[in-house]
Amino acid sequence: IQEPANLADMVRARAKARGDAVAYEFEGRQTSFAEFDIKTNRVANALIAMGVKPGERIAYLGKNSDIYFELLLGAMKANVVMAPVNWRLAGPEVAFIVDDCKAPVLFVGPEFITQVRNILPQLPSVRHVVTTEGGAPEWQDFTAWRDAQSSDDPKVPVDRKDIAIQLYTSGTTGKPKGAMLSHANFLNLVETGRDQKPDWNKWSVDDVSLVAMPIFHIGGSGWGVMGLYHGARGVIAREFDPTKVLDFFEQSGITKLFMVPAAMQFVVRQPRARQVDFSRLKYMLYGASPIPAALLKECIEVFKCGFVQMYGMTETTGTIVALPPEDHVEGLDRMRSAGKALPGIELAILDANGNQLPPGEVGEIATRSGSNMAGYWNLPEATAKTLGSDGWLRTGDAGYMDRDGYLYIHDRIKDMIISGGENIYPAEVESAICDHPDVAEAAVIGIPDDKWGEAVKAIVVMKPGKSATSSDIINFTRERIAGFKTPKSVDFLDALPRNPSGKILRRHLRDPYWAGKDRQVN
Ligand code: ATP
Ligand code: MG
Repeated sequence: IQEPANLADMVRARAKARGDAVAYEFEGRQTSFAEFDIKTNRVANALIAMGVKPGERIAYLGKNSDIYFELLLGAMKANVVMAPVNWRLAGPEVAFIVDDCKAPVLFVGPEFITQVRNILPQLPSVRHVVTTEGGAPEWQDFTAWRDAQSSDDPKVPVDRKDIAIQLYTSGTTGKPKGAMLSHANFLNLVETGRDQKPDWNKWSVDDVSLVAMPIFHIGGSGWGVMGLYHGARGVIAREFDPTKVLDFFEQSGITKLFMVPAAMQFVVRQPRARQVDFSRLKYMLYGASPIPAALLKECIEVFKCGFVQMYGMTETTGTIVALPPEDHVEGLDRMRSAGKALPGIELAILDANGNQLPPGEVGEIATRSGSNMAGYWNLPEATAKTLGSDGWLRTGDAGYMDRDGYLYIHDRIKDMIISGGENIYPAEVESAICDHPDVAEAAVIGIPDDKWGEAVKAIVVMKPGKSATSSDIINFTRERIAGFKTPKSVDFLDALPRNPSGKILRRHLRDPYWAGKDRQVN
């Protein structure tokens, strides 16, 4: 395959090389690479006709669909930047993002028409709303909007350094930030270490990949773009539905997919999961949050494919570290690790002054590569803090590397608890609490404490019908971890607050305790 200069060229090149092949399928509708090329030309022409200028953002509030990918790559052909919005957010949060990116056009899926009608007065930048599947007579609909335009290539120049997509971070530690990812960021993923790629990271045109994660995250949009780049067939799931994922395995012969651990848990616990034929499935890639050891074991038994853990973030265009299938061996210490840096990716552990720490010492995980984002949209201070002046992107995650370069992730630095001068990583305490047979899940936070600065507090969800008390849990934990890490108090809740990727929102639990107080974070 000829190397494209940017992702818009990538679409043109695939149409030339594999015009008749299926680029993607969505709810029974197949689109070939040749058709994709023409549809994206029309989208680009329609945006230009609306007066959208190169470098402007357009927003998409909708579930996964083939139309989204036409808009994403069509926008690239006009050098316009797509900003997909997390549809699980509440109205004011959606309004924050659409307003933040100053989108003149908002594309809206059928499920969100009422919401958009309600928030439209708060969206002064939006001049046009386009529905993706109809449902609002006052607005234009996508198919008519697209097909009114010429299929000629608009031939808008696109530089490698231009922004290809603006993806908002998951909002686990604060408000979502618009990470600007360039064409170069994506191309770096496929180009660096091209000759050293292990089998799990190679694509063939015979691959069938499932886009099961939402397109407003890198695990959806980035994954979909990778499949297109390699001329493979993409099967797009409207939204994550565990029974439908099993149907896709049976009906579409999926060979590889990416899922977050919370999604894997839903799929593997389907009663039907053990009867499904997974023989075509080669690799299951997973990451974005820690995976419980028991869940991984269950998945290995049921899916019987190669497993690859991935560590990365929106700001790094996705994966920078991976734990390959050969390290997924039970009893191996490395199973707890997130893996090693991919070829072409540099990894370091930094202290608070930006000095590199030796193996085994815990500090901030940092990375340097061509996949580091261009910056955060409209946030110069956060950009400078994250990208640093030395090219090392600070992940905000704490961890250490062993002598062989395997990365062990401890926790978010913002969630680290400092009690009596000692650093405590909630994940370690949570995992000790979760060993208690009555506990379903736990979150650990620091709350203000006059004597210690912060005190460790656990929020616990019990298994149905179980009755351990706070002192049972405290005593149980004290036998497993150091006294200063043991919770001083325990609260009980019916469920933990999580975002759609299954990440625990510890700040939601912590904030009420800190109202009116300043929490020191390194
Ligand atoms: P925000 O930046 O808005 O607080 P977020 O960091 O959750 O949200 P993402 O970019 O989607 O947004 O997620 C990246 C983060 O996910 C990483 O910084 C890390 O904390 C976590 N993560 C990613 N992969 C793994 C993994 N394999 N194991 C544990 N944690 C992971
Ligand atoms: Mg983050």
